[in-house]
Amino acid sequence: GISRFCNKQLKLLDAPFMLNGRELNVTASIGVSVYGEDAQTTTDLIRNADIAMYQAKKRGRNQYAIFSSELHRDISENIEIENRLRLAIRKRQIEVYFQPQVQLMHSEIVGFEALARWTDKEMGVISPQKFITIAEDTGLISDLGDLILDKALSQFKQWHEAKPSLTLSVNLSASQLQDDDLIPLLKRKISEFAINPHQIKLEITEDIFISNIDTSIQITSQLKKLGFQISLDDFGTGYSSLSYLKDFDIDELKIDRSFVDHIETSERNKAIVSAMLVMAHVLSIDCIVEGVETEQQLIELQKLGCTLFQGYFFYRPMPANGIDLLLQPDLPVPIG
Ligand code: C2E
Ligand code: MG
Ligand code: MG
Repeated sequence: GISRFCNKQLKLLDAPFMLNGRELNVTASIGVSVYGEDAQTTTDLIRNADIAMYQAKKRGRNQYAIFSSELHRDISENIEIENRLRLAIRKRQIEVYFQPQVQLMHSEIVGFEALARWTDKEMGVISPQKFITIAEDTGLISDLGDLILDKALSQFKQWHEAKPSLTLSVNLSASQLQDDDLIPLLKRKISEFAINPHQIKLEITEDIFISNIDTSIQITSQLKKLGFQISLDDFGTGYSSLSYLKDFDIDELKIDRSFVDHIETSERNKAIVSAMLVMAHVLSIDCIVEGVETEQQLIELQKLGCTLFQGYFFYRPMPANGIDLLLQPDLPVPIG
């Protein structure tokens, strides 16, 4: 009943429309709520259909979604998280962990990735994926990004002073990249903490990069002019991975963890990683592999020519005081 009706409507809109001699393509997102089942009043019915419609949009448009109580629960939960997140940001309760990156050729830690952490008193640990998405959807991301940068750089400053070659990787979300304040913010932080921007790698996921390619090119080139390095995160998971690379000034590719899983047994994953390494090499782009969990994986990756690694096999993300201990002189990297 409902699904047939919705599919029919979507299909009807599939054909192009002619407007003033131009061809127009339209898609729709449909939200469905059932009277009597989901809602007893017009107001509730419309609200629920609206909630379902946003769900349909989120799933990628040109779709329909049917309201359900689980959907409603998810949305109320997100509102709860949003409120707590707002407070946590104000109280500066978001923490930053650091995961070392290892250069195996010299057996040394060459840098860290800053990763946001949040434990709410009542809700417990909330994953960064979850709270960053919520921050993006609600406009909290600029304050959150500012806070993360602040905490990450103030820690990094000390390590950087002790060993100037260390780098710090910081993740940027989609809306941070679009934010007009990003460049002024980064400029402010760099001068406030007196850090050489060349030691900062701004990580942008391949997805974000591709989904808005013009803005991405424009902003990354501005960031490069300021001296920052650009790293393409989750590389290999996007759509058109290879072809656009030659046109951009990217410093690093971060090969996604999904290629590391089963690398021991998957000839396919080996071939893909190998191709990525060759290409990066030709284009003079550095490569780091993330998500290395076992020695076997490491061995395979080394055979393929990888030298830079990040993963649980070496170190888990840890609070700043953990890094302080690691950076004590003469402490070897715990691998052979
Ligand atoms: P990402 O930038 O790709 O970060 C790598 C993720 O992989 C981190 O998860 C890290 O803890 C995890 N990881 C590292 N080594 C291993 C391993 O060997 N095995 C496995 N299974 N996982 C490993 P985390 O910290 O949960 O972050 C998830 C994502 O959330 C990040 O993916 C990033 O996209 C986002 N994120 C985290 N912190 C921030 C932040 O400060 N700002 C922004 N915009 N996004 C952030
Ligand atoms: Mg990252
Ligand atoms: Mg990644």
